[in-house]
Amino acid sequence: MSPSAIAQHYQVAIVGGGIAGLTLALALEKQSIDYILFESQDSLTPDRGASVGLQPNGLRILDQLGLIDEIEKHTGTLQRWRHLDGEGELISEIKALGYYRSQIGYGPLFLERRKLLEIMAEGLKSKDAAKTGIRVLSVKESPEVVTIGLSNGSCITADIVIGADGVRSCVRDAINVTQPEPFQADDYITTQFACVYGISTPIDGISEGDCFSIYRPGATILIFTGQVGAIFWFVFEDLGHTYSLSTTPRYTSDDIDEVCTSIAHLRITPAVCFGDVYAKRSVAMKVPLEEGLAPSWHTNRMVIVGDAAHKMAPTAAMGANQAIESSTTLLNELQETFSKSKDGFLPQGLLTAALERYTESRKPRAGGIAQKAGIICRAQLLHDGPAAAVRDELPSLTDGDWLFRGFMGLADSPVIAVLPLSSRGEFFGQAVEQFWKRVRARQNSGLNMTNLDLFGIEG
Ligand SMILES: Cc1cc2nc3c(=O)[nH]c(=O)nc-3n(C[C@H](O)[C@H](O)[C@H](O)COP(=O)(O)OP(=O)(O)OC[C@H]3O[C@@H](n4cnc5c(N)ncnc54)[C@H](O)[C@@H]3O)c2cc1C
Repeated sequence: MSPSAIAQHYQVAIVGGGIAGLTLALALEKQSIDYILFESQDSLTPDRGASVGLQPNGLRILDQLGLIDEIEKHTGTLQRWRHLDGEGELISEIKALGYYRSQIGYGPLFLERRKLLEIMAEGLKSKDAAKTGIRVLSVKESPEVVTIGLSNGSCITADIVIGADGVRSCVRDAINVTQPEPFQADDYITTQFACVYGISTPIDGISEGDCFSIYRPGATILIFTGQVGAIFWFVFEDLGHTYSLSTTPRYTSDDIDEVCTSIAHLRITPAVCFGDVYAKRSVAMKVPLEEGLAPSWHTNRMVIVGDAAHKMAPTAAMGANQAIESSTTLLNELQETFSKSKDGFLPQGLLTAALERYTESRKPRAGGIAQKAGIICRAQLLHDGPAAAVRDELPSLTDGDWLFRGFMGLADSPVIAVLPLSSRGEFFGQAVEQFWKRVRARQNSGLNMTNLDLFGIEG
């Protein structure tokens, strides 16, 4: 009996309808590949008051998915970043963010996470494949299919299940127990920090495009701005203890006030302190900041993307961008498998090989970025080691140095291989190519050319 006779069968089942799950759904729909997505929450656009920063790597892919115009309607581009010490003294002021749009085609931007999810969900032409209010309860792999048990009491089968189900991923748990030496999430996901995030209405003295980081121990602040000066703020709290995933504290709204009022006096500008920002909040939430890279990302028919695979501190504004990248690379690697599907089933050998290639190519990049994000978080909270080195060099970094590092990080970012690039997407590729040419020319000529010269920027 074929598996489809006992349960509805799909080529691809996606668990989770966050940024990773929706990236996968949008890209699969554009390629007319049969999929189903399960999201446990009742809506794809939960209103939790979070914001998200998108960077050129994520934006180029969202542009391929036809969403860039709508996204940009709801944001302003980030321009200036002021790094301050705990007394409000300026450590450095960086204008590099403002150069990205002209240098690489997309400027980093911030918007409400709910708005991004709404734009992504509305981008789906058919809403039928995305099932909300259904939790995946079990995932069981056999040589032929994966059987997925659902909270509505039914089950389906799929050729492949993609776990885009976040830091407490059930697909990752199902992968973990298949390993020769099974392990659990507690072995590699830890929590040292918590974050209160919030959105405040605009304040005189903080303009659209402004960003601020404060460096101090215990608890500190990161601020980005969105359209018409909406303020997206984050309070990072050092918990002074490392928790495993299962012992990580959970928070309620009662846990927010204490840490936020303890830093209300911190100066953001000479005229604005954090208390002024906090007083104008429309929403605030507190979450633990888990960090960890899953050791195993796939079996023969199960694979993880996004936070399920690589959970990082939010300080580099990269988690969602990396979730978009991982989803993209996975689909690129699966292309050949999709094109050779037979009688609606994906060939097993090609499938496993594709998942292996995906893991091999994504793990080092996502892992490296997660490590940097962790160092930046620790730098802000005055930890020692590599974090101290990051702080020490801050005053001497030019806009050219920041752009140089930014380009190095963006150079290897993927695009959806089967979808066309817009002219901005093409420009991104050309800009990276030109960048490498100039770097090589500088090396070969031995010229004393600064990173500012490299980008043609005045100091
Ligand atoms: C405070 C904070 C600020 C951040 N800021 C940024 C930023 O500026 N830029 C950036 O790039 N990243 C940022 N991040 C990180 C970013 O939010 C995450 O990396 C990103 O949302 C991960 O997306 P995901 O789809 O992998 O996982 P998630 O967003 O966790 O989505 C997983 C989804 O799966 C669903 N789900 C889970 N289990 C099941 C199940 N069994 N059945 C069905 N559905 C299930 C969940 O309901 C959820 O909707 C930030 C994170 C935090 C905490």
